[in-house]
Amino acid sequence: MEQQLTLALSKGRIFEETLPLLQAAGITVTEDPESSRKLILPTNDPQVRVIIVRASDVPTYVQYGAADFGVAGKDVLLEHGGEGLYQPIDLNIAKCRMSVAVQAGFDYASAVRHGARLRVATKYVQCAREHFAAKGVHVDLIKLYGSMELAPLVGLSDAIVDLVSSGGTLRANNLVEVEHIMPISSRLVVNQAALKLKRERLQPILAAIERASQGNN
Ligand code: ATP
Ligand code: MG
Repeated sequence: MEQQLTLALSKGRIFEETLPLLQAAGITVTEDPESSRKLILPTNDPQVRVIIVRASDVPTYVQYGAADFGVAGKDVLLEHGGEGLYQPIDLNIAKCRMSVAVQAGFDYASAVRHGARLRVATKYVQCAREHFAAKGVHVDLIKLYGSMELAPLVGLSDAIVDLVSSGGTLRANNLVEVEHIMPISSRLVVNQAALKLKRERLQPILAAIERASQGNN
């Protein structure tokens, strides 16, 4: 019997940058999620479909087996915890870094040196907690869901933990990057049960994606 496979992707950069990798596995998504309102997209292979979910929801769909595999940022995977997920491949796409940033003029180094208690706004509460705990810096974490750059500008926080690529958004908001926490890229994640039960169908696709992603190094 043929096995249907469901791949979870998010709109935007992850979708765009995953397409060429799928192509290498012979899979073409036949509808564009930007123009289609459909959340289930067909591919040229009747046995493979793509579902479009929020970037931070990809691990959840894969964990519960609603998707057999998916693509998610390391940031998202660290916040999720990775439970029930097999993470075989770093696709080297959607590359950026997780950093600490403050308003220009705020003396972060001195605040840290003097043991000040810092207010830090972020979407990445787990990562931020670990980072500051490892440095021995006391922080009050404020959970946000977006537009972190605003927080220091209006006095919500002293610092933010956010993703940075070119630094353009930080500069536009008078913020400066004061610490790199870690490099970020997107990973392929696979449901652990699907990996066993659908191995025959999944394995060649994973292998083709892995081979194609090595070109992104
Ligand atoms: P949502 O828009 O649903 O709130 P999101 O902002 O996390 O979610 P995207 O902006 O598509 O969604 O980001 C998806 C992934 O791409 C992130 O989890 C991260 O790994 C990576 N990413 C985020 N920002 C950048 C960036 N500026 N450059 C490169 N990769 C990035
Ligand atoms: Mg975004």
